[in-house]
Amino acid sequence: MNKRRIGVLTSGGDASGMNAAIRTIVRTAIHYGMEPYGIFRGYHGLVHNEIEPLNSRSVSGIIQRGGTILKSARSEEFMTPEGRKKAVENLKKHGIDALVVIGGDGSFRGGLELQKLGCDVIGVPATIDNDIACTDYSIGFDTAVNTVTDAINKIRDTASSHDRVYVVEVMGRHSGYIALYSGLASGADAILVPEVPFNLDKVCNQIIDANKKGKTHSIIVAAEGVGVDPENNTKIESHSMYIGNYIQQKTGYETRITILGHIQRGGAPTVRDRCLASRLAYHAVELIYQGESGKMIGEVDKVIKSWDLEYALAQKKQFNLEYYHLSNILSSI
Ligand code: ADP
Repeated sequence: MNKRRIGVLTSGGDASGMNAAIRTIVRTAIHYGMEPYGIFRGYHGLVHNEIEPLNSRSVSGIIQRGGTILKSARSEEFMTPEGRKKAVENLKKHGIDALVVIGGDGSFRGGLELQKLGCDVIGVPATIDNDIACTDYSIGFDTAVNTVTDAINKIRDTASSHDRVYVVEVMGRHSGYIALYSGLASGADAILVPEVPFNLDKVCNQIIDANKKGKTHSIIVAAEGVGVDPENNTKIESHSMYIGNYIQQKTGYETRITILGHIQRGGAPTVRDRCLASRLAYHAVELIYQGESGKMIGEVDKVIKSWDLEYALAQKKQFNLEYYHLSNILSSI
């Protein structure tokens, strides 16, 4: 009997730890007697037949690297039935009948479509936004949040030296997780996220109160999602600019705005992300070995579990209000 062939791809925004996941998938597949194949540039590569066999050495020396050696892309073509038909034909050409998709919820939706066309798909959650339900954390979040916290530490030095207010805009169009964790970890005075309505006047009064108590600088962490117009999903440009200008006018304190941008994605993954990626990826291959399909792997309360992909995609990630309230208490004293 021929060995079972298993494909792996990374899709959507890159996240640190994707390489650690690829490494584990390749080596676990070999461990279970399967043949691993790499699909380059996500679903784009699947539609355009960018598929190559991988071996243990193909994934040497990558566990410590951010980004993804398989590259990532967004593919409009794959969103069409014709594109997906080509993708399935390419999988068949290589004899691949199982696929591990490493990515975010968009990538999982793509995986679900493939599943309907007869390919066994398992999803491994990887997105810095940490917005996927059925897992406490997704690969890349911990590294991103550590990078952001490190950046805010540096901004804090300047804020304190010059008695300024800083509005720091962090990634998260629909998710305030990066803002929440980095804000709590860096002692932010306010955390503005899309999940919780806020009042800018209240934020200004808090800054003025803190000043009266002797705190002459403030850090406000704002998720970029607070600048997204929910009506039509378009980003209102310079929303953090608006917030910063509003605070300066209302409080009279010198206010600066820093948009952290793409330094938040890459960089060497943290130990937490490497371990999470290795564990999730190992269990993904194990599921394929057991003949499972249409599932995602997640870690909940430190236990690795699998969930029906369709069910997981229908769930909304719960926002961590405990962290949010704790940060509010600590910054208001
Ligand atoms: P992420 O996985 O990080 O959420 P995207 O939302 O950009 O990233 O999705 C990555 C890719 O997954 C898209 O470019 C597209 O090719 C594919 N995809 C997303 N949603 C669907 C869908 N509903 N059906 C088929 N493919 C999809």
